[in-house]
Amino acid sequence: MRRWRLILLTIAVLGVAYLLHRFVPSQHNPLRPPDLNEPLGLATYGKLTELKYNEKICRQVLLDAGVEFEVRVADGAEPRCPLPETLQLKRSLTPYRGAPLRMTCHQMAALYTWERHVLRPQAEKIFDSPLRQIQTYGSFSCRNIAGTRTRSQHSFANAIDISGFVLEDGTEIRVRDHWRERSNKGKYLSRVHRRACHLFSVTLGPDYDAAHADHFHLDMGHAETCR
Ligand SMILES: [Zn+2]
Repeated sequence: MRRWRLILLTIAVLGVAYLLHRFVPSQHNPLRPPDLNEPLGLATYGKLTELKYNEKICRQVLLDAGVEFEVRVADGAEPRCPLPETLQLKRSLTPYRGAPLRMTCHQMAALYTWERHVLRPQAEKIFDSPLRQIQTYGSFSCRNIAGTRTRSQHSFANAIDISGFVLEDGTEIRVRDHWRERSNKGKYLSRVHRRACHLFSVTLGPDYDAAHADHFHLDMGHAETCR
């Protein structure tokens, strides 16, 4: 009798698991393969994080989303910060201004997700204008975290600094000038910063410290911080 109960219970559990897998939308289902164009959901962060451990799937996911990149071979151009093979962004939905953006694949995937599902729709929503340009201070840079002896995620090409945005109508939104401002520009910056926290491992802005007064630092390292 006991054994039958156990069998029935197992069948019920498997049935529920199957139904969940079958009917829960992909963005909420961690067992579904990642797709950078699907809406954001409960499983988005987990899927982006998983890409850290699967370079082949990561690159395919970027290509499927329409992101154009060039593979940069491993090099020791900076002897203190030798890089493994990384990707250089060629084309995304929005042009980026700043140094050439050389990144790890999972960092590029998180960046694209933020751009596609947060930066662009929020510009349309708040300003009723498309996003024309994303301004950056660059990604790869061989350096320590300011004031420490720890290597920054920039030295692993696993981070990017974003300083501002330009809208199609010419409006400029700068982290340095408009953070915490009671205006649409301030609202845009708060929203995109808060939502970056759900996509990147680390999101730092002007509230973190003076070194970040003029940009958002976004990285896919092992720490988890949102400030
Ligand atoms: Zn940074």
